[in-house]
Amino acid sequence: MGTAYRRILLKLSGEALMGDLSYGIDPAVVQDIAQEISEVVASGVQVAIVVGGGNIFRGVKGAAAGMDRATADYVGMIATVMNAMTLQDSLEQMGVPTRVQTAIAMQEVAEPYIRRRAMRHLEKGRVVIFGAGSGNPFFTTDTTAALRAAEISADVIFKATKVDGVYDADPHVNPNARRYQSLTYGHVLTHDLRVMDSTAIALCKDNNIPIIVFDLSVGGNIRRAVMGESIGTIVGG
Ligand code: UDP
Repeated sequence: MGTAYRRILLKLSGEALMGDLSYGIDPAVVQDIAQEISEVVASGVQVAIVVGGGNIFRGVKGAAAGMDRATADYVGMIATVMNAMTLQDSLEQMGVPTRVQTAIAMQEVAEPYIRRRAMRHLEKGRVVIFGAGSGNPFFTTDTTAALRAAEISADVIFKATKVDGVYDADPHVNPNARRYQSLTYGHVLTHDLRVMDSTAIALCKDNNIPIIVFDLSVGGNIRRAVMGESIGTIVGG
């Protein structure tokens, strides 16, 4: 059976790598994610990944505690590199060729972000993991995901989260909350739905990049989404 997409951009939040821990990285969880990614790569789909850093450090929190905001954001960006390298290690142990590219140069441990080079890696079947966000403070890794997806002409963004899609109310609070199967960018923006931050949604809207929001903790969901099965919520035009 053919896959629905040729090139995907998978956005993994830092929290996705944390599992049930309250901080940091759960190696077993990273291994599970890497396993799923390896299956998708084996099916011939090109996979680029943007990792967050919220499991280690968030700029907003640092600033709230009195840090200079831009400095705190740089710390947050550097945190994402730890996640990127950990995920790379897991994938490579499974025999999946990968490259980490960082938006803040760290040439001893990763390539710098070079768009054309990233695309070449993808064409060769290598997973490219983008670390250090966009390299700019005051942005998020969600916005980075939208930016990189546009730059590399990804067909879709997979926004892997802890919930199985987007709801009209918080399903943990309201038992009658209903999950949307599909949504427009405009609806997400005007109702301020928590899919990705508004900068990221606006970028996806301008560049017509669909976003699929789904629950990462359900095994096989990345593969299902790649096959075009209807899981979670799709945000589009
Ligand atoms: N960050 C940044 N610019 C970027 C991407 C990230 O300054 O382009 C910083 C920001 O401080 C953010 C932190 O890196 O809080 C970690 O990223 P994020 O919160 O997006 O991670 P996630 O929520 O996906 O785990």
